Amino acid sequence: MTGTQKYDAVVIGGGPAGSTAAAVLAGHGRKVVVLEKDRFPRYHIGESLMPYCYFPLERIGVIEKIKASNFPQKYSVQFVSTMGKVSQPFYFFQHMEHEASTTWQVVRSEFDQMLLNNAREKGAEVREETKVVEILRENGAVVGVRAEHHGHEETFRAPMTLDASGRDALAVARNGWRVPDPQLKKIAIWTYYRGALRDPGLDAGATTVAYLPDKGWFWYIPLSDDVVSVGVVAEREYLFDEGRDLATVFQREAQKNPWVSEHLAPGQQFGRYWTTSEYSYRSRYCGEDGLVLVGDAFAFLDPVFSSGVFLALRSGELAGDLVHAALSDGDVSAARFQGYGEQICGGIEAMRNLVYAFYDQEFSFRELFQRYPDVRPDLTDCLIGHLFRDFQDLFSRVGEFAQLPAPLPHGRAPAPCASSS
Ligand SMILES: Cc1cc2nc3c(=O)[nH]c(=O)nc-3n(C[C@H](O)[C@H](O)[C@H](O)COP(=O)(O)OP(=O)(O)OC[C@H]3O[C@@H](n4cnc5c(N)ncnc54)[C@H](O)[C@@H]3O)c2cc1C
Repeated sequence: MTGTQKYDAVVIGGGPAGSTAAAVLAGHGRKVVVLEKDRFPRYHIGESLMPYCYFPLERIGVIEKIKASNFPQKYSVQFVSTMGKVSQPFYFFQHMEHEASTTWQVVRSEFDQMLLNNAREKGAEVREETKVVEILRENGAVVGVRAEHHGHEETFRAPMTLDASGRDALAVARNGWRVPDPQLKKIAIWTYYRGALRDPGLDAGATTVAYLPDKGWFWYIPLSDDVVSVGVVAEREYLFDEGRDLATVFQREAQKNPWVSEHLAPGQQFGRYWTTSEYSYRSRYCGEDGLVLVGDAFAFLDPVFSSGVFLALRSGELAGDLVHAALSDGDVSAARFQGYGEQICGGIEAMRNLVYAFYDQEFSFRELFQRYPDVRPDLTDCLIGHLFRDFQDLFSRVGEFAQLPAPLPHGRAPAPCASSS
């Protein structure tokens, strides 16, 4: 059976980016549909939020629901040396006098379900188990999508389509727009423990980033129900040099950092070991006529500083407002999204500089703060997600210790003739 439905906007994917964009558009009174290939709740990685997630979450009206949940509160991020020594934590409340300074460690199946339900409550139509298989174009502009639901095909037409398909990055894949980051070529292996150690008091919900000798790092994220998410990130060649069994590789690496092995010792590993491929990339363009990319469908950056969900929420919010304005003006050309591309890429570049510094053997936060104690507020701004501002001073100083990358030129709107057809 084939049918055609008409909307103001079609959103591909019901993760944080898609649900936020849909809630914003529905809030503007737009007729919007979210097409999600899975049935929620569904598993997803990406559990540690940044304080600035608060603002898009507040905008779409879910803060009270999150406060009422049992997600552990996260007050800080801390770093653990290869020898197992814990740094002075970055407590967000020491930097920011706002309740946003307390953020959360979320179980994504529950968090994403909450956001998708919220989009529904705001008036968006949500179709689960509906996979977009084709982006439709007419006269060079995107005019909707073709999707499949249990073997049935349906066409969803709209003047604007928002691609929020996550790392599947549907439009990027179809258009050949995926540009891998030249240096950030890590992979991750992760799993879950029950009953592993939690630090006392305020640090019980902290994200811990624990270094491995020269090679990478572990995340340690305390979740609800006494569960901890633990993962290792490093170069593929290094992790798989003695074999590819994920459990063996994970356990071998966990023994290399005393803090990680001591914290895991009383716990019980459960469920499978997960892995993901080399992951940092950015789209060549942020959209085309009738299409805008949001969240991971636009760009993905190494998750060491937990920036992914924030960028998904914020880009979803921004794109929702811009699409509404574009529809009101009757102009859905790619040029409308030039400023959006600039803004999101600017924020990603700040975070990307910090990620490069993190992986640079010559760089240490301790030495940076010893020489330049006044940069701590700027650096904490990056860690909380206050990203869309000028960080020239900070990175000129970080650049004395670490090799920082040149900004990537891509990720903006295409010039009219460059738009794919
Ligand atoms: C190892 C690892 C660790 C991470 N840790 C963190 C962290 O601690 N903190 C953090 O903030 N971020 C983290 N991230 C990043 C975070 O997971 C993402 O940035 C975030 O999920 C992006 O949200 P999104 O809405 O853009 O995409 P997603 O959350 O991936 O949502 C996309 C949705 O689109 C759907 N979809 C895909 N294709 C189609 C299609 N063709 N048709 C219909 N639906 C489709 C998918 O089913 C999915 O539900 C991590 C990522 C990785 C890989």
